[in-house]
Amino acid sequence: MTAPTLRTLTVLGATGSIGVNTLDVVARHPDQYRVFAISGATQLDRLLEQCKQFAPRYAVVLTEQSAETLRGMVRAAGLETEVLCGEAALEQVACAPEVDTVMAAIVGAAGMKPTLAAAQCGKRVLLANKETLVLAGKLFMDAVTAAGAELLPIDSEHNAIFQVLPRAHREHPYHGTLQQAGVRRILLTASGGPFRTRPLETLAAITPEEAVRHPNWSMGRKISVDSATMMNKGLEVIEAHWLFNARPDEITVVVHPQSIVHSMVEYVDGSVLAQLGAPDMRTPIAYGMAYPQRVESGVEKLDLFKVGRLDFEEPDLKRFPCLRLAFEALRQGGPATAIANAANEVAVAAFLDHQLDWNGIPALIEHTLGVCCSNASDASIDLLLQADAHAREVAQQWLRER
Ligand code: NAD
Ligand code: MG
Repeated sequence: MTAPTLRTLTVLGATGSIGVNTLDVVARHPDQYRVFAISGATQLDRLLEQCKQFAPRYAVVLTEQSAETLRGMVRAAGLETEVLCGEAALEQVACAPEVDTVMAAIVGAAGMKPTLAAAQCGKRVLLANKETLVLAGKLFMDAVTAAGAELLPIDSEHNAIFQVLPRAHREHPYHGTLQQAGVRRILLTASGGPFRTRPLETLAAITPEEAVRHPNWSMGRKISVDSATMMNKGLEVIEAHWLFNARPDEITVVVHPQSIVHSMVEYVDGSVLAQLGAPDMRTPIAYGMAYPQRVESGVEKLDLFKVGRLDFEEPDLKRFPCLRLAFEALRQGGPATAIANAANEVAVAAFLDHQLDWNGIPALIEHTLGVCCSNASDASIDLLLQADAHAREVAQQWLRER
């Protein structure tokens, strides 16, 4: 293998689960990767530690108040990192000419604008923030094409699919259809989360503590709840639709409790290609960072003798109504997926705050989709953000009035 070129990264959401894993891979290859900027909403102590270890030129926080605090900490530690704050600063560090690679790992709709900015500036975008595609899939994919940006999916399933798709299709998914690439369908695997076998009548009693304890993956709180409701898989169906130019009927969700097969592609000749590995996000992160080469990621070797068996099941839509709702939103098109996502964000926050029970999550999404129904097909960014804001209001009102 030839030596990879030196890459300079901005890590948006550096303090989160994906951000920390990204910096872990960076630390394994100090000669190959430099960190230009990091960002985080809170956790200033962690940001300071990251400044010490990676000496980024910029650290970006949300508010002027936390910027002042972090500035004091950085100065006291004798570091040269400059502290910035706010949305514009996130876009600035995503688009800086020194940067060639942007890890988009902010959680939720808040990640959309800086991720879009990175694409518009023609960067290599390592896309963990699936909400960007759920909110503004068409706009984002158009921006990637127009600016010649390089898009590498980090979500483990999409990374797996990317790895086993024909290179021409994965790099230019809108030059032709999946069918023209010889693909019959995408098999998106899902662990089924912690409640796959829990008696249906006990679901209403699920607590936030139970919901954030995922059996296979260690992740942020919001995505852990999404995994347990399978809304995460719903968002991933939408993500796969945009990333791979796949129609909803070309995507099949397969429950696979061991999380070893990260997804599969079925070809017209009957071949099914899969990517397997230990459930550790450093594999897709390292793949995106080094593409098309490979670098060591620190991930434990897959021991198939220990794994022993791999199981596959059809998802139960009674147990996981969020998955059905996400498919419905995707089929509806336009801002519907943004509306479903916004309602889900409100619902998950209320659930984590003990204000909504488990069954209230899909109920709130279904209500919001019903009230906000819109079929505008070619939505502008302003219209999508309006739809997102309106959906949040409708969802909050339902929470207050029910
Ligand atoms: P996390 O909650 O652990 O971290 C989120 C990061 O975003 C933190 O750095 C936080 O400070 C920052 N942030 C939060 N709110 C913000 C705001 N309003 N403005 C700016 N920054 C803000 O989340 P995570 O698990 O690392 O997930 C990050 C993204 O990656 C999500 O979109 C998630 O769906 C996706 N993803 C995560 C995993 C995983 O294994 N964790 C897997 C696949 C995809
Ligand atoms: Mg995933």
